[in-house]
Amino acid sequence: MIKVGLVSLGCAKNLIDSEIMVGHLQQAGMTMTPEADLADVLIINTCSFIDMAKKESVGAVHEAVDARGESKKRKRQKIIVAGCLSQRFSQELPGLMPEVDAFIGLDQITQVAPIIQGLMDKDKGEQENLVTRQPQYIPDYDTPRFRLTPKHMAYIKIAEGCNHPCSFCIIPRIRGRHRSRTQESVLKEARQLIESGVKEINLISQDTTYFGMDKWEGERPKPRSGVDSSKGESLSTLIRELNAIPGDFWIRLLYTHPAHWSDDLIAAIAESPKVARYIDMPLQHISDHMLSLMKRETDGAYIRDLLKRIRAGIPGIAIRTTFIVGFPGETEADFNELVQFIEDEKFERAGVFNYSREEDTRAAKMDDQIHHMTRKARWNEAMRAIQRSVEHVNRQQVGKKLRVLVEEPGVARTEMDAPDIDTTIFVDKNLPVGSFADVTVKEWRGYDLVAG
Ligand code: SF4
Repeated sequence: MIKVGLVSLGCAKNLIDSEIMVGHLQQAGMTMTPEADLADVLIINTCSFIDMAKKESVGAVHEAVDARGESKKRKRQKIIVAGCLSQRFSQELPGLMPEVDAFIGLDQITQVAPIIQGLMDKDKGEQENLVTRQPQYIPDYDTPRFRLTPKHMAYIKIAEGCNHPCSFCIIPRIRGRHRSRTQESVLKEARQLIESGVKEINLISQDTTYFGMDKWEGERPKPRSGVDSSKGESLSTLIRELNAIPGDFWIRLLYTHPAHWSDDLIAAIAESPKVARYIDMPLQHISDHMLSLMKRETDGAYIRDLLKRIRAGIPGIAIRTTFIVGFPGETEADFNELVQFIEDEKFERAGVFNYSREEDTRAAKMDDQIHHMTRKARWNEAMRAIQRSVEHVNRQQVGKKLRVLVEEPGVARTEMDAPDIDTTIFVDKNLPVGSFADVTVKEWRGYDLVAG
């Protein structure tokens, strides 16, 4: 019985890839072990979208290689590097990490069991590089998968890859072109999850708002064109169908892109009470100068108008967003406009990234790279502005009755809080984990709420 250990790094999309690997390993009769020392094979599912993530992934691989070198128990252990670091640097890594037994990419996650069997059959063999360029794979509702999330919460990957040209982003080169699943495949998976007791379904992809459109006949909808869903499956049609599934659960929308929002999508959310009153929409910036250099296919006027339409069309909606500060060419005026925008919009939830110069992106070749001290100072100032907004929002929650999902004894999430990225509310320790509860907000502490 081959024992496998898994280190899963990065975003929820990578977590689903890990779950699919575990599903195939179990289907092949292999067992998972949480003890790296006991593992015959260690898989490190890596991330590499920005510098910090790359460093964490490389560190995890080195740690595994060093531990194998130092431990008698692990002397014969095989090490497999999977995920975005492996996909992105498939040419470079073999030379840099000769101790690794195999590199696999995003299209090999369903082949992990025979790959391991092959490695185990040969004592010490040549390093294998099985990464294929331009990944095509997308899971289906019946893909073997072992969920690594709590029983009451699940992610559904409704599409993979991205067609957007954001000049700072390396993800399209790693994950390939946008490819959506069929609506029926997503609905089947959602029904299975709800029947199994899931209370929260998080819809994820690189651009959730582009769902279905890559399959439309004829011309694809242009950014900012206001999508007409009669042309085919879309996020609006999917939401309406998901909302019709019997049961008491939340549908949460993550990773939406402002360019593909439409009045029809706003209406679909407003008409669907099971859709959490929460939208994750990374905006990256607000100044036209920056949005154009970032190739975000949107501008300041469009974004401000869209936010107004969303807040008017979906009462009580919480908006989560992220920004990048220190992008090449960002002037004091650009940055001040961003801080003022954060102050004015009072986003319920938000985060800031310090620009990361990613090789092979257009932005990495741009002039006017911003000094790291200036980037850091702007990051601090933007985070302070966000903290003020979130505290303003939290202050308004005091006395309100909120529906929450209990995550662990005494800790829950409101509709405004996505798993792993937002904040929590402290509740009565006796509330059953994995269930909804109605609580009244007594106070707030920084980013967190406290129920009474
Ligand atoms: S939308 Fe832009 S930032 Fe997001 S994954 Fe696609 S290219 Fe990257």
